[in-house]
Amino acid sequence: MNHLMQTYNRLPVRFVRGEGCWLFDHEGKRYLDAIAGIAVSSLGHAHPKMVKNLQDQIEKLLHTSNLYQIELQEQLAEKLGHISGLDQAFFCNSGAEANEAAIKLARLWGQNKGIKEPAIIVAEGAFHGRTLGALAATNGRWHEGFSPLPGGFFRVPYDNLQAIEAFADQKDIVAVLVEPIQGESGIRMPHLDYLAHLRALCNRYNWLLMLDEVQTGIGRSGAWFVYQKRGIKPDVLTLAKGLGGGVPIGACLAQKEIAALFTPGKHGSTFGGNPLACRAALTVLEVIEEEGLCANAHEMGMLLAASLQKELNSMPIADIRHEGLLLAIELEDEIVDLPLQALHEALLLNVTQKKVIRLLPPLILDATHAQLITEKIGILFAKYFRSKQ
Ligand SMILES: *Cc1c(COP(=O)(O)O)cnc(C)c1O
Repeated sequence: MNHLMQTYNRLPVRFVRGEGCWLFDHEGKRYLDAIAGIAVSSLGHAHPKMVKNLQDQIEKLLHTSNLYQIELQEQLAEKLGHISGLDQAFFCNSGAEANEAAIKLARLWGQNKGIKEPAIIVAEGAFHGRTLGALAATNGRWHEGFSPLPGGFFRVPYDNLQAIEAFADQKDIVAVLVEPIQGESGIRMPHLDYLAHLRALCNRYNWLLMLDEVQTGIGRSGAWFVYQKRGIKPDVLTLAKGLGGGVPIGACLAQKEIAALFTPGKHGSTFGGNPLACRAALTVLEVIEEEGLCANAHEMGMLLAASLQKELNSMPIADIRHEGLLLAIELEDEIVDLPLQALHEALLLNVTQKKVIRLLPPLILDATHAQLITEKIGILFAKYFRSKQ
């Protein structure tokens, strides 16, 4: 009997070591990592600076408590404030928790204005996490079997402003929570002016604009955050995945008037923002700056998308789309067993929404890696489509 709860259909491979964009299994075979632990290992594996800084931190201090001051947490909050333009941070351990914090802030903000049952507008196809509040905000297909879920969410089609505007007269609405690009839903990209219009709507109706950049944030889109490329700023921002480069950390950032609602006792976390996690996140931010990884994500994204277009142009591909190093190859039909076949080509990728191959490689990707990914996908698809005939 396997003593693990079977919450995942795992591929038959075990990795024991990593280096840069490569992972090695127990037999020493190496795999090109084009998924980075689902947008987590932003600096790749065993980045020398990460190794050095974490070794140093482990020797000094792993954990104290949020009962005490934590200098690394203050430094991280300041640094995140600087790159995001948002004033204050609350640290937790995951994306779901970051969104729970955002939902609680929105409710406090509403209650503070005398709204007894504050409601949040969310999008169809959204993914915000698996805890009950975040799950209620997430696309309904993940809800089955988990009722009763917390209420207070209205779901509208993604990339549809009229559907949101229809709530103009609803006095209970306090916030809109969306991903600037939907990740789990298959790298779904709204119109480029969607966020700017959302910002304007939120200003007009006095709603908070809350962006979930758990997957898209921290350099992956080619900028620190997608909203910066769209020329707006949210009131609340949630982060996790790439922030710690593999060490679990999440963050909810907010402008100070909103953040101020979290007075002592209103929210908390035992582990959130501990010295180890903060040192990891500070290292990630430092290396992204030193190595110019936002620009690299932009350039490598363009390169990879262009070479994939060329390599796959005679194959039945519905769409290739990307922003920075968030890439999707959408097929016309449902995909069967492709991640397993990719494993045989020593390539790690992921399939989401049944038809979409998702590539989220480390931000340290170089042109040689991009070429190798393209070649491997070329071979993989040639075999795959041949086997379908
Ligand atoms: C992965 C993800 C989450 C959930 O993060 P966890 O760390 O798994 O809780 C939330 N929002 C988005 C956009 C995500 O991609």
